[in-house]
Amino acid sequence: MNIARSQELFVQARRYMPGGVNSPVRACKSVGCEPVFVERAAGAKIYDADGNEYVDFVCSWGPMILGHNHPAVVAAIKEALAAGTSFGAPTSSEIELARLVTAALPSVEKVRFVSSGTEATMSAVRLARGFSGRSKVVKFDGCYHGHADSFLIKAGSGVITLGIPGSPGVPEDIVKNTISIPYNDSTILEQTLRDPELDIACLIIEPVAGNMGVVAPAPGFLQLARQLTSELGIILIFDEVITGFRLALGGAQEYYGVRPDLTCLGKIIGGGLPVGAYGGKKEIMDQIAPDGPVYQAGTLSGNPLTMAAGAATLRELGRPGFYPELEKKSARFAAQLAELAHRYLPGQTTLNRVASMMTTFFTPGPVSDHSTAMQADTARYAAHYRHMRSRGIWLAPAQFEAAFISAAQTETDLSRALDQTEWSFKNLRNQ
Ligand SMILES: *Cc1c(COP(=O)(O)O)cnc(C)c1O
Repeated sequence: MNIARSQELFVQARRYMPGGVNSPVRACKSVGCEPVFVERAAGAKIYDADGNEYVDFVCSWGPMILGHNHPAVVAAIKEALAAGTSFGAPTSSEIELARLVTAALPSVEKVRFVSSGTEATMSAVRLARGFSGRSKVVKFDGCYHGHADSFLIKAGSGVITLGIPGSPGVPEDIVKNTISIPYNDSTILEQTLRDPELDIACLIIEPVAGNMGVVAPAPGFLQLARQLTSELGIILIFDEVITGFRLALGGAQEYYGVRPDLTCLGKIIGGGLPVGAYGGKKEIMDQIAPDGPVYQAGTLSGNPLTMAAGAATLRELGRPGFYPELEKKSARFAAQLAELAHRYLPGQTTLNRVASMMTTFFTPGPVSDHSTAMQADTARYAAHYRHMRSRGIWLAPAQFEAAFISAAQTETDLSRALDQTEWSFKNLRNQ
Protein backbone atom coordinates (compact mmCIF):
# COMPACT_ATOMS: atom_id res chain seq x y z
CA MET A 1 0.00 0.00 0.00
CA ASN A 2 1.40 3.37 -1.00
CA ILE A 3 1.39 5.93 1.82
CA ALA A 4 3.95 8.36 0.37
CA ARG A 5 1.72 11.41 0.76
CA SER A 6 1.04 10.55 4.44
CA GLN A 7 4.78 10.19 5.03
CA GLU A 8 5.37 13.61 3.51
CA LEU A 9 2.62 15.16 5.64
CA PHE A 10 4.05 13.55 8.78
CA VAL A 11 7.42 15.22 8.12
CA GLN A 12 5.66 18.59 7.85
CA ALA A 13 3.46 17.94 10.91
CA ARG A 14 6.44 17.09 13.08
CA ARG A 15 8.02 20.40 12.22
CA TYR A 16 5.14 22.30 13.82
CA MET A 17 3.58 20.00 16.42
CA PRO A 18 5.11 17.75 19.12
CA GLY A 19 5.24 14.26 17.66
CA GLY A 20 3.36 15.61 14.64
CA VAL A 21 0.03 15.00 16.37
CA ASN A 22 -2.45 16.58 18.75
CA SER A 23 -3.10 13.42 20.78
CA PRO A 24 -0.23 11.00 21.47
CA VAL A 25 -1.60 7.57 20.47
CA ARG A 26 -2.32 8.84 16.96
CA ALA A 27 1.41 8.92 16.25
CA CYS A 28 1.40 5.06 16.03
CA LYS A 29 4.65 4.83 18.01
CA SER A 30 3.64 1.74 19.98
CA VAL A 31 2.81 -0.17 16.81
CA GLY A 32 6.14 0.69 15.21
CA CYS A 33 5.03 2.66 12.19
CA GLU A 34 4.11 6.14 11.06
CA PRO A 35 0.53 7.40 11.04
CA VAL A 36 -1.49 7.73 7.88
CA PHE A 37 -3.25 11.04 7.39
CA VAL A 38 -7.00 10.98 6.83
CA GLU A 39 -8.48 12.90 3.94
CA ARG A 40 -12.16 12.10 4.50
CA ALA A 41 -14.56 9.44 5.75
CA ALA A 42 -18.04 8.23 4.86
CA GLY A 43 -20.15 5.58 6.56
CA ALA A 44 -17.82 2.79 7.72
CA LYS A 45 -14.95 3.87 5.44
CA ILE A 46 -11.94 6.09 5.97
CA TYR A 47 -9.85 7.40 3.03
CA ASP A 48 -6.26 8.48 3.53
CA ALA A 49 -4.20 11.18 1.84
CA ASP A 50 -2.98 8.68 -0.79
CA GLY A 51 -6.52 7.60 -1.62
CA ASN A 52 -6.40 4.24 0.20
CA GLU A 53 -9.67 2.96 1.66
CA TYR A 54 -10.07 1.40 5.13
CA VAL A 55 -12.93 -0.21 7.07
CA ASP A 56 -13.08 1.76 10.30
CA PHE A 57 -13.10 0.00 13.69
CA VAL A 58 -11.88 3.01 15.68
CA CYS A 59 -14.89 5.25 15.07
CA SER A 60 -12.88 8.30 16.18
CA TRP A 61 -12.23 6.39 19.47
CA GLY A 62 -15.94 5.88 20.07
CA PRO A 63 -18.12 8.78 18.92
CA MET A 64 -18.98 7.61 15.40
CA ILE A 65 -21.48 4.91 16.40
CA LEU A 66 -23.60 5.82 13.35
CA GLY A 67 -20.57 5.87 11.05
CA HIS A 68 -19.11 8.95 9.41
CA ASN A 69 -21.15 11.73 7.83
CA HIS A 70 -24.53 10.28 8.75
CA PRO A 71 -27.06 12.29 6.70
CA ALA A 72 -29.22 13.26 9.70
CA VAL A 73 -26.19 14.50 11.64
CA VAL A 74 -24.76 16.39 8.66
CA ALA A 75 -28.13 18.04 8.04
CA ALA A 76 -28.40 19.11 11.69
CA ILE A 77 -24.89 20.60 11.66
CA LYS A 78 -25.58 22.47 8.41
CA GLU A 79 -28.77 23.94 9.78
CA ALA A 80 -27.01 25.08 12.96
CA LEU A 81 -24.04 26.40 10.98
CA ALA A 82 -26.27 28.70 8.95
CA ALA A 83 -27.38 30.38 12.17
CA GLY A 84 -23.85 31.03 13.49
CA THR A 85 -21.16 29.01 15.21
CA SER A 86 -20.86 30.39 18.76
CA PHE A 87 -22.64 33.04 20.80
CA GLY A 88 -21.52 32.63 24.40
CA ALA A 89 -25.19 32.86 25.39
CA PRO A 90 -27.92 30.27 25.94
CA THR A 91 -29.53 28.60 22.92
CA SER A 92 -32.54 26.29 22.69
CA SER A 93 -30.30 23.55 21.24
CA GLU A 94 -28.82 23.03 24.71
CA ILE A 95 -32.27 22.34 26.15
CA GLU A 96 -32.92 19.79 23.41
CA LEU A 97 -29.74 17.80 24.05
CA ALA A 98 -30.19 18.07 27.84
CA ARG A 99 -33.73 16.74 27.43
CA LEU A 100 -32.53 13.76 25.39
CA VAL A 101 -29.70 12.97 27.82
CA THR A 102 -31.81 13.19 30.97
CA ALA A 103 -34.60 11.14 29.36
CA ALA A 104 -32.15 8.35 28.48
CA LEU A 105 -30.36 8.37 31.86
CA PRO A 106 -32.76 8.53 34.81
CA SER A 107 -29.86 9.07 37.26
CA VAL A 108 -29.04 12.31 35.44
CA GLU A 109 -31.61 14.83 36.69
CA LYS A 110 -29.52 17.81 35.60
CA VAL A 111 -26.59 18.05 33.23
CA ARG A 112 -23.79 20.53 32.43
CA PHE A 113 -22.20 20.45 28.97
CA VAL A 114 -18.48 21.01 28.54
CA SER A 115 -16.07 20.58 25.61
CA SER A 116 -14.24 17.32 26.36
CA GLY A 117 -14.42 14.17 28.45
CA THR A 118 -11.39 15.40 30.37
CA GLU A 119 -13.29 18.49 31.44
CA ALA A 120 -16.29 16.38 32.42
CA THR A 121 -14.38 14.06 34.80
CA MET A 122 -12.24 16.87 36.19
CA SER A 123 -15.35 18.94 36.95
CA ALA A 124 -17.31 15.99 38.36
CA VAL A 125 -14.51 15.34 40.85
CA ARG A 126 -14.37 19.02 41.83
CA LEU A 127 -18.11 18.91 42.38
CA ALA A 128 -17.89 15.70 44.43
CA ARG A 129 -15.22 17.30 46.62
CA GLY A 130 -17.14 20.56 46.92
CA PHE A 131 -20.38 18.77 47.81
CA SER A 132 -18.87 16.35 50.33
CA GLY A 133 -16.17 18.58 51.82
CA ARG A 134 -13.80 15.60 51.53
CA SER A 135 -10.61 15.37 49.48
CA LYS A 136 -9.62 11.87 48.32
CA VAL A 137 -10.50 10.29 44.98
CA VAL A 138 -10.48 6.53 44.51
CA LYS A 139 -9.95 5.23 40.97
CA PHE A 140 -8.96 1.94 39.37
CA ASP A 141 -5.63 0.92 37.81
CA GLY A 142 -5.89 1.02 34.02
CA CYS A 143 -9.02 3.17 33.92
CA TYR A 144 -8.61 6.38 31.96
CA HIS A 145 -10.54 9.48 32.90
CA GLY A 146 -8.90 12.03 30.65
CA HIS A 147 -5.68 13.86 31.36
CA ALA A 148 -6.47 16.03 34.41
CA ASP A 149 -3.72 15.89 37.06
CA SER A 150 -5.70 13.86 39.61
CA PHE A 151 -6.18 10.96 37.21
CA LEU A 152 -2.68 10.53 35.86
CA ILE A 153 -1.65 7.76 38.18
CA LYS A 154 -1.84 4.20 36.85
CA ALA A 155 -4.01 5.57 34.07
CA GLY A 156 -5.10 3.71 30.95
CA SER A 157 -5.11 4.52 27.23
CA GLY A 158 -2.04 6.37 25.92
CA VAL A 159 -0.49 6.43 29.38
CA ILE A 160 -0.18 2.62 29.34
CA THR A 161 0.59 2.46 25.66
CA LEU A 162 3.53 4.80 25.88
CA GLY A 163 4.75 3.20 29.12
CA ILE A 164 4.58 6.46 31.06
CA PRO A 165 4.18 5.59 34.78
CA GLY A 166 2.19 8.70 35.58
CA SER A 167 3.34 11.98 34.21
CA PRO A 168 6.05 14.50 35.01
CA GLY A 169 4.40 17.81 35.78
CA VAL A 170 1.85 16.30 38.15
CA PRO A 171 2.85 17.41 41.67
CA GLU A 172 3.07 14.93 44.56
CA ASP A 173 0.64 17.14 46.44
CA ILE A 174 -2.05 16.34 43.91
CA VAL A 175 -1.25 12.66 43.45
CA LYS A 176 -1.42 12.03 47.21
CA ASN A 177 -5.14 12.69 47.04
CA THR A 178 -5.72 9.96 44.44
CA ILE A 179 -5.83 6.30 45.41
CA SER A 180 -5.66 3.77 42.59
CA ILE A 181 -6.75 0.18 43.25
CA PRO A 182 -7.09 -2.94 41.06
CA TYR A 183 -10.22 -3.25 38.89
CA ASN A 184 -12.56 -6.11 39.80
CA ASP A 185 -11.01 -6.76 43.23
CA SER A 186 -13.94 -6.66 45.68
CA THR A 187 -11.81 -7.22 48.78
CA ILE A 188 -9.45 -4.32 48.13
CA LEU A 189 -12.39 -2.13 47.11
CA GLU A 190 -14.17 -2.77 50.39
CA GLN A 191 -11.01 -2.35 52.49
CA THR A 192 -10.17 0.93 50.80
CA LEU A 193 -13.63 2.47 51.01
CA ARG A 194 -14.04 1.44 54.64
CA ASP A 195 -10.66 2.84 55.71
CA PRO A 196 -11.61 5.50 58.28
CA GLU A 197 -8.35 7.43 57.73
CA LEU A 198 -9.02 8.15 54.10
CA ASP A 199 -11.65 10.93 53.92
CA ILE A 200 -12.91 9.76 50.50
CA ALA A 201 -15.00 12.17 48.43
CA CYS A 202 -15.72 9.91 45.48
CA LEU A 203 -15.16 6.64 43.68
CA ILE A 204 -14.79 7.00 39.91
CA ILE A 205 -15.00 4.02 37.58
CA GLU A 206 -15.34 3.12 33.94
CA PRO A 207 -18.29 0.73 34.37
CA VAL A 208 -16.86 -1.23 31.47
CA ALA A 209 -13.17 -0.45 31.16
CA GLY A 210 -12.29 0.57 27.62
CA ASN A 211 -8.86 2.07 28.08
CA MET A 212 -6.82 -0.97 29.14
CA GLY A 213 -8.52 -2.77 26.30
CA VAL A 214 -12.10 -3.85 26.99
CA VAL A 215 -12.56 -5.34 30.47
CA ALA A 216 -16.03 -6.09 31.78
CA PRO A 217 -16.92 -5.58 35.43
CA ALA A 218 -17.03 -8.91 37.31
CA PRO A 219 -20.58 -9.99 38.18
CA GLY A 220 -21.69 -7.98 41.21
CA PHE A 221 -18.70 -5.62 41.18
CA LEU A 222 -20.63 -2.47 40.20
CA GLN A 223 -23.43 -3.44 42.59
CA LEU A 224 -20.89 -3.76 45.41
CA ALA A 225 -19.41 -0.36 44.54
CA ARG A 226 -22.92 1.12 44.68
CA GLN A 227 -23.80 -0.54 47.95
CA LEU A 228 -20.59 0.47 49.74
CA THR A 229 -20.56 4.06 48.50
CA SER A 230 -24.22 4.53 49.51
CA GLU A 231 -23.53 3.14 52.95
CA LEU A 232 -20.42 5.28 53.46
CA GLY A 233 -21.69 8.52 51.92
CA ILE A 234 -19.10 8.41 49.13
CA ILE A 235 -20.16 9.83 45.76
CA LEU A 236 -20.17 7.20 43.02
CA ILE A 237 -19.14 8.56 39.61
CA PHE A 238 -19.57 6.48 36.47
CA ASP A 239 -17.26 7.63 33.72
CA GLU A 240 -19.50 6.74 30.78
CA VAL A 241 -17.56 8.81 28.26
CA ILE A 242 -17.25 5.63 26.14
CA THR A 243 -20.12 3.48 27.43
CA GLY A 244 -22.79 6.21 27.45
CA PHE A 245 -25.13 5.60 24.48
CA ARG A 246 -22.72 2.81 23.42
CA LEU A 247 -23.94 -0.17 25.50
CA ALA A 248 -27.56 0.98 25.50
CA LEU A 249 -29.44 4.27 25.25
CA GLY A 250 -29.09 4.44 29.04
CA GLY A 251 -25.40 3.43 28.95
CA ALA A 252 -23.73 1.00 31.34
CA GLN A 253 -26.06 2.08 34.15
CA GLU A 254 -29.01 0.72 32.20
CA TYR A 255 -27.06 -2.31 30.92
CA TYR A 256 -26.04 -3.39 34.44
CA GLY A 257 -28.92 -1.84 36.39
CA VAL A 258 -26.76 0.26 38.72
CA ARG A 259 -27.39 3.98 39.29
CA PRO A 260 -24.43 6.24 40.07
CA ASP A 261 -24.69 9.64 41.77
CA LEU A 262 -22.83 11.42 38.98
CA THR A 263 -22.21 10.43 35.36
CA CYS A 264 -19.59 11.71 32.93
CA LEU A 265 -20.36 11.66 29.24
CA GLY A 266 -18.55 12.62 26.03
CA LYS A 267 -17.74 11.08 22.66
CA ILE A 268 -21.11 9.86 21.27
CA ILE A 269 -23.19 12.72 22.69
CA GLY A 270 -21.33 15.23 20.49
CA GLY A 271 -22.03 13.36 17.25
CA GLY A 272 -18.36 13.74 16.26
CA LEU A 273 -17.83 17.33 17.48
CA PRO A 274 -15.87 18.18 20.65
CA VAL A 275 -17.99 17.53 23.75
CA GLY A 276 -18.25 16.37 27.32
CA ALA A 277 -20.96 16.48 29.96
CA TYR A 278 -21.49 15.65 33.60
CA GLY A 279 -24.74 15.24 35.40
CA GLY A 280 -26.56 13.52 38.20
CA LYS A 281 -28.70 14.10 41.25
CA LYS A 282 -30.29 17.55 41.45
CA GLU A 283 -29.06 18.15 45.01
CA ILE A 284 -25.47 17.62 43.88
CA MET A 285 -25.72 19.43 40.52
CA ASP A 286 -27.28 22.47 42.18
CA GLN A 287 -23.96 23.08 43.92
CA ILE A 288 -22.47 24.20 40.60
CA ALA A 289 -22.17 27.92 39.81
CA PRO A 290 -24.28 29.99 39.31
CA ASP A 291 -26.74 28.12 41.60
CA GLY A 292 -24.02 26.99 43.99
CA PRO A 293 -20.44 27.75 44.98
CA VAL A 294 -18.54 25.11 42.92
CA TYR A 295 -17.05 26.98 39.99
CA GLN A 296 -16.92 25.59 36.47
CA ALA A 297 -17.28 27.45 33.18
CA GLY A 298 -16.51 27.22 29.45
CA THR A 299 -16.41 29.76 26.60
CA LEU A 300 -17.52 27.20 24.00
CA SER A 301 -19.58 24.97 26.32
CA GLY A 302 -22.94 23.99 24.85
CA ASN A 303 -21.71 24.99 21.40
CA PRO A 304 -24.69 25.08 19.01
CA LEU A 305 -23.05 22.91 16.32
CA THR A 306 -22.14 20.28 18.90
CA MET A 307 -25.60 20.37 20.48
CA ALA A 308 -27.23 19.91 17.07
CA ALA A 309 -24.92 17.05 16.06
CA GLY A 310 -25.40 15.38 19.44
CA ALA A 311 -29.18 15.66 19.40
CA ALA A 312 -29.40 14.31 15.84
CA THR A 313 -27.21 11.36 16.87
CA LEU A 314 -29.21 10.54 20.00
CA ARG A 315 -32.48 10.68 18.02
CA GLU A 316 -31.11 8.07 15.60
CA LEU A 317 -29.98 5.91 18.54
CA GLY A 318 -33.45 6.14 20.02
CA ARG A 319 -35.05 4.37 17.06
CA PRO A 320 -36.58 1.05 18.12
CA GLY A 321 -34.29 -1.88 17.42
CA PHE A 322 -31.08 0.12 17.14
CA TYR A 323 -29.22 -1.53 20.04
CA PRO A 324 -30.53 -5.09 19.51
CA GLU A 325 -29.40 -4.84 15.87
CA LEU A 326 -25.93 -3.59 16.85
CA GLU A 327 -25.66 -6.36 19.48
CA LYS A 328 -26.55 -9.05 16.95
CA LYS A 329 -23.93 -7.79 14.49
CA SER A 330 -21.28 -7.43 17.21
CA ALA A 331 -21.94 -10.88 18.70
CA ARG A 332 -21.70 -12.54 15.33
CA PHE A 333 -18.52 -10.73 14.37
CA ALA A 334 -16.87 -11.47 17.73
CA ALA A 335 -17.77 -15.16 17.46
CA GLN A 336 -16.17 -15.36 14.03
CA LEU A 337 -13.10 -13.50 15.28
CA ALA A 338 -12.76 -15.89 18.23
CA GLU A 339 -13.12 -18.81 15.83
CA LEU A 340 -10.20 -17.55 13.72
CA ALA A 341 -8.05 -16.98 16.81
CA HIS A 342 -8.84 -20.49 18.01
CA ARG A 343 -7.93 -21.98 14.62
CA TYR A 344 -4.64 -20.15 14.02
CA LEU A 345 -3.42 -18.99 17.44
CA PRO A 346 -4.95 -21.51 19.85
CA GLY A 347 -4.59 -20.52 23.49
CA GLN A 348 -2.69 -17.37 22.59
CA THR A 349 -5.38 -14.71 22.56
CA THR A 350 -8.33 -13.54 24.65
CA LEU A 351 -11.32 -11.78 23.18
CA ASN A 352 -13.19 -9.52 25.59
CA ARG A 353 -16.47 -8.05 24.37
CA VAL A 354 -19.30 -6.06 25.90
CA ALA A 355 -21.99 -5.07 23.38
CA SER A 356 -20.33 -3.26 20.45
CA MET A 357 -16.93 -2.75 22.09
CA MET A 358 -14.24 -5.45 22.05
CA THR A 359 -10.51 -6.14 22.32
CA THR A 360 -8.42 -9.10 21.17
CA PHE A 361 -5.59 -9.35 23.69
CA PHE A 362 -2.51 -11.25 22.59
CA THR A 363 -2.33 -13.26 25.82
CA PRO A 364 -3.97 -16.53 26.92
CA GLY A 365 -5.90 -14.54 29.54
CA PRO A 366 -8.31 -14.25 31.15
CA VAL A 367 -7.96 -10.44 31.17
CA SER A 368 -9.88 -8.98 34.09
CA ASP A 369 -7.78 -6.03 35.26
CA HIS A 370 -4.73 -3.90 34.52
CA SER A 371 -2.10 -6.47 35.55
CA THR A 372 -3.63 -9.26 33.44
CA ALA A 373 -4.01 -6.85 30.50
CA MET A 374 -0.33 -6.01 30.79
CA GLN A 375 0.48 -9.67 30.03
CA ALA A 376 -0.47 -8.99 26.42
CA ASP A 377 2.27 -9.30 23.82
CA THR A 378 2.28 -5.76 22.45
CA ALA A 379 4.88 -6.57 19.77
CA ARG A 380 2.46 -9.15 18.40
CA TYR A 381 -0.39 -6.66 18.47
CA ALA A 382 1.85 -4.20 16.63
CA ALA A 383 2.52 -6.74 13.89
CA HIS A 384 -1.22 -7.50 13.67
CA TYR A 385 -2.00 -3.78 13.44
CA ARG A 386 0.50 -3.29 10.60
CA HIS A 387 -0.85 -6.30 8.71
CA MET A 388 -4.40 -5.09 9.03
CA ARG A 389 -3.65 -1.50 8.07
CA SER A 390 -1.71 -2.60 5.02
CA ARG A 391 -4.82 -4.53 3.96
CA GLY A 392 -7.32 -1.72 4.53
CA ILE A 393 -8.58 -2.41 8.05
CA TRP A 394 -8.43 0.54 10.45
CA LEU A 395 -7.74 -0.66 14.01
CA ALA A 396 -6.63 1.31 17.06
CA PRO A 397 -2.85 1.83 16.92
CA ALA A 398 -2.41 0.31 20.39
CA GLN A 399 -3.23 -2.98 22.15
CA PHE A 400 -4.96 -1.38 25.13
CA GLU A 401 -7.91 0.14 23.28
CA ALA A 402 -11.33 -0.95 22.11
CA ALA A 403 -12.49 -1.88 18.64
CA PHE A 404 -15.97 -0.53 17.95
CA ILE A 405 -18.75 -1.86 15.78
CA SER A 406 -20.80 0.89 14.15
CA ALA A 407 -24.23 0.91 12.62
CA ALA A 408 -22.60 1.79 9.28
CA GLN A 409 -20.59 -1.41 8.91
CA THR A 410 -22.20 -3.84 6.48
CA GLU A 411 -21.80 -7.62 6.39
CA THR A 412 -19.42 -7.04 3.46
CA ASP A 413 -17.25 -4.72 5.56
CA LEU A 414 -17.17 -7.21 8.40
CA SER A 415 -16.30 -10.18 6.23
CA ARG A 416 -13.52 -8.13 4.63
CA ALA A 417 -12.16 -7.56 8.14
CA LEU A 418 -12.46 -11.27 8.96
CA ASP A 419 -10.63 -12.28 5.77
CA GLN A 420 -7.76 -9.93 6.58
CA THR A 421 -7.71 -11.09 10.19
CA GLU A 422 -7.35 -14.67 8.96
CA TRP A 423 -4.40 -13.61 6.78
CA SER A 424 -2.79 -11.72 9.67
CA PHE A 425 -3.27 -14.55 12.20
CA LYS A 426 -1.74 -17.02 9.70
CA ASN A 427 1.27 -14.73 9.40
CA LEU A 428 1.57 -14.37 13.16
CA ARG A 429 1.39 -18.15 13.59
CA ASN A 430 4.36 -18.57 11.25
CA GLN A 431 6.51 -15.98 13.00
C1 LIG B 1 -11.98 9.42 26.03
C2 LIG B 1 -12.22 9.27 27.47
C3 LIG B 1 -12.10 10.36 28.36
C4 LIG B 1 -11.55 11.70 27.94
O1 LIG B 1 -12.31 12.31 26.97
P1 LIG B 1 -11.61 13.45 26.04
O2 LIG B 1 -12.76 14.00 25.26
O3 LIG B 1 -10.59 12.72 25.22
O4 LIG B 1 -11.00 14.44 26.95
C5 LIG B 1 -12.48 10.19 29.67
N1 LIG B 1 -12.94 9.00 30.11
C6 LIG B 1 -13.05 7.94 29.30
C7 LIG B 1 -13.60 6.67 29.84
C8 LIG B 1 -12.66 8.03 27.97
O5 LIG B 1 -12.71 6.95 27.19
